[in-house]
Amino acid sequence: MTAGAARRDEAVRAAVERGLLGPGSPLVGLLDVTGIRESAVALRAAFDEVTAPGTPVLHAFAVKATPLVPVLGLLREEGIGAEVASPGELALARAAGLTPDRTVLDSPAKTPAELREALALGIAVNADNPQELDRIDALMRSAPSRSPLGIRVNPQVGAGSIEALSTATATSKFGVALRDEGAREWVVRAYAERPWLSRLHAHTGSQGVPLSLMAQGVAATYALAEEINRRIGRPQIDTIDIGGGLPVNFASDVTTPTYADYAQTLKKAVPGLFDGRYGLVTEFGRSLLAKHGTVVARVEYAKSAGGRPVAVTHAGVQVATRTVYAPGAWPLRIAAYDGKGRPKEGPEVVQDVAGPACFAGDLLAQGCPLPLLEQGDYAAALDTGAYYFAHHYAYNSLARPAIYGFAPDGRGGTAFATVREQQTVEDIVAESGGAHAGALTVLRAPGRH
Ligand SMILES: *Cc1c(COP(=O)(O)O)cnc(C)c1O
Repeated sequence: MTAGAARRDEAVRAAVERGLLGPGSPLVGLLDVTGIRESAVALRAAFDEVTAPGTPVLHAFAVKATPLVPVLGLLREEGIGAEVASPGELALARAAGLTPDRTVLDSPAKTPAELREALALGIAVNADNPQELDRIDALMRSAPSRSPLGIRVNPQVGAGSIEALSTATATSKFGVALRDEGAREWVVRAYAERPWLSRLHAHTGSQGVPLSLMAQGVAATYALAEEINRRIGRPQIDTIDIGGGLPVNFASDVTTPTYADYAQTLKKAVPGLFDGRYGLVTEFGRSLLAKHGTVVARVEYAKSAGGRPVAVTHAGVQVATRTVYAPGAWPLRIAAYDGKGRPKEGPEVVQDVAGPACFAGDLLAQGCPLPLLEQGDYAAALDTGAYYFAHHYAYNSLARPAIYGFAPDGRGGTAFATVREQQTVEDIVAESGGAHAGALTVLRAPGRH
């Protein structure tokens, strides 16, 4: 068993003992603070190992992966910045104390107001397309900014195994499609005409994309930076932002590929990127958090249908949206715990683990071999620290669960800290137009009543 799995088991047991998890609070998210710190350290070490001494490297966590202020604060303490893609994400990063020099703004749909704010703050911005660059031109004319500015390109190296997450296809919506007719020349000219454009950005990886394909995307981006600097005749591009996208192994507790694997693959494929002529920015999300989150749900009822046991739990589409809607692409491992939160023993039985939502497809796992889940037991969905319980989906007005961070308390036990409180039913009413209860009844066609 890995150390992370042992910490998880202990945390589930302690959460039940402490009453954080029980009949009255049947669903929680747990975050392993030790594991998150270890991943941040591993990321920094992997790139330190391959870069020339003194190379500036900013690891900016993709906030969308786990948009929780305390998580951003923990990562900040570990030297990790933030990559943001909306006014909300920028506000979260600022609430966590991230400074503009540790923040990068990428998004395909930045408004003039967002761009103005980012440039006023001095946050790095990667322009997605020529129209966005026009807006930045206008802002730079009216008030020069110290924001490091770049252009996002799509090297069009091809898709991974999950189409919806593949950013480097020929027709991806992101960045300037580099292999399209005239695009490369346009990019070179854009830099030649704007001495303040100092960065180049690409994000080609994601779940389902192999390291070799990711490395091809980075190599193409590096080659473009080299061409631009050569043609302009000076090293105008001083920083390359290689994006994130390291895939996560959802099939076991082992972390693979590692940041070291990826850094070594890049070093081999693109040695010039690391010789000290370029600063680096990375934007990892899923790989920093996924393995350190667990959603734990009480089994409300255990039943049987058509000969198959079904455990009806409190975790379904509202916390595992991708898995429920696309189970083939996003299977999750489930661990069984007994009513005291101890790993459940017993022979494996093929069963379904269902969620609380009112549609038949609301299943966390189908045909899953596990010790038989019974009423009052707990089912845990593993590796859900990124893009799962932090991404609540309000189906059936199910409440956002509480999230707790955990770490050893130094006395052989586990300490918990609240990351986010459970949403109350009053919150749900307020967020569902509760203040406007009669709003629609006052709209009438003239003459009717
Ligand atoms: C989503 C995203 C990331 C993070 O991707 P992960 O797969 O979570 O590592 C990084 N950069 C950009 C531009 C993104 O859109």
